[in-house]
Amino acid sequence: MAENLRIAVIGAGMGGLATALSLAKAGHKNITIYETAPGLGFVGAGIQLAPNMARILDRMDCWKPIAAEAVQCAATSIREGHTDKELGHVKLDYIEKTYGHPHMVGHRASLAGSIYDACQKESGIKFEFGSLISNTEFGAKPSFTATPIKSPDEARRVECDVLLACDGVKSQTRVAMLQALKETADVKDSGQAAYRIMLTREQMQHDPELIALIDADAVTRWVGEKRHVIAYPIHSKQIYNISTAQPDVNFAGAPNSTYTTKGSKSAMMQVFSDFCPKVRRMLDLVPDGEVVEWKLRVHEPLSTWIYDSVALVGDACHPTLPHLAQGAAQAIEDGAVLGVVLNPKRIADCQPSTIKKALQIYEKVRKDRAEALVELAAENGRSMHLGSGKAQEERDKIFAALKTGKGPVPDKWADADVQRMIYGVDIAADAEDMCKEEGFVAKL
Ligand SMILES: Cc1cc2nc3c(=O)[nH]c(=O)nc-3n(C[C@H](O)[C@H](O)[C@H](O)COP(=O)(O)OP(=O)(O)OC[C@H]3O[C@@H](n4cnc5c(N)ncnc54)[C@H](O)[C@@H]3O)c2cc1C
Repeated sequence: MAENLRIAVIGAGMGGLATALSLAKAGHKNITIYETAPGLGFVGAGIQLAPNMARILDRMDCWKPIAAEAVQCAATSIREGHTDKELGHVKLDYIEKTYGHPHMVGHRASLAGSIYDACQKESGIKFEFGSLISNTEFGAKPSFTATPIKSPDEARRVECDVLLACDGVKSQTRVAMLQALKETADVKDSGQAAYRIMLTREQMQHDPELIALIDADAVTRWVGEKRHVIAYPIHSKQIYNISTAQPDVNFAGAPNSTYTTKGSKSAMMQVFSDFCPKVRRMLDLVPDGEVVEWKLRVHEPLSTWIYDSVALVGDACHPTLPHLAQGAAQAIEDGAVLGVVLNPKRIADCQPSTIKKALQIYEKVRKDRAEALVELAAENGRSMHLGSGKAQEERDKIFAALKTGKGPVPDKWADADVQRMIYGVDIAADAEDMCKEEGFVAKL
């Protein structure tokens, strides 16, 4: 019975959780999620919750608790970092009417926690936290070593029927797959890093300009040469979430495995020393020792995401710079598509060739779209980080035209045409259509 196929999901990030939930909702009863960390353990940070993500989570019955404490964005304001002058103001309140869900911003812990809670209600999903997966072997029946972090002597080999590697940007499965394919896909150093900060309402309350920011239903981005700050209220406006991008100087010389570090507040203040007083006052509220810096890392597009009965998912195959706020949304889209193509009715004969066909359709539906967004996010970073010169003048002319209601928005995530391309796609419906096109229909 296809619903009893052994499905191994590596990683309990947004990609792994959404994939497992989507497969359970499709009827699978034997899904195990292996996660190195002892629990969910998400860093405290905000996240943009785009309608293409919300649509999928709503169908899986876990959107309501997220929306209940998230903040709906009525607008976004793009401003010059050093003067605070508004370059562009874009209303986002049309989004709900057009795409069925509003654009919201929320807390990562609430997003992951709600998908996790929904997974726990599914008897078909088991979690193995504190378990490191290594030595993946590909084939019709993939296998790997699962090593309990606390008792490495108890490491064991696990065989499965489908292996879905949602193991993030540092994916060991991707490395093993590339080795098996005798290919390379170099890690691309984005040259960028990000500070991530959360301020409480209490920390901001003595500053009327800052309180106005947390009270606004808006995402604000301040842009400058090679840097920006993006900020929005989350957690029912009790927290102001700030994320930045700046040239990576701290990770450049660090070993490959380093992705986050305790940042230095004085270094951060120095990076934004020519930004306007409002931004500097805001950054200055961060207590020493609470600055976290992330390296922003991507890699070359892969020739394929699948090998036999193994597929890569989320950041493992399409790490995306945060400048389009789509990385997690795209990982969740992957999960939604896997639920469609691996529906037990479609793979009822349980044959490895049928599973492979399902994964080929997954790749067909997802790869071009995700990679287009990876490129668009990188391009948006370049456009937002322009220094002085012709290109910046051109960009600011486009911003000026926007004020008279004409033309595109240079900050791409806020542009209506880009939003149509991202939010207007119902990826699960596309996957159903592709299955029909490929004659991949229920086999009962
Ligand atoms: C600054 C910043 C801002 C962002 N903002 C947004 C945003 O606003 N909106 C948005 O949609 N996206 C955003 N993103 C992107 C988003 O965070 C990621 O794309 C998303 O979290 C990726 O999810 P994932 O499940 O693929 O990978 P991860 O979240 O990295 O999860 C991988 C999991 O696999 C586990 N794992 C790894 N290796 C093993 C192993 N060998 N064995 C067992 N377990 C393993 C890890 O412990 C981890 O839990 C942002 C990213 C950054 C850096």
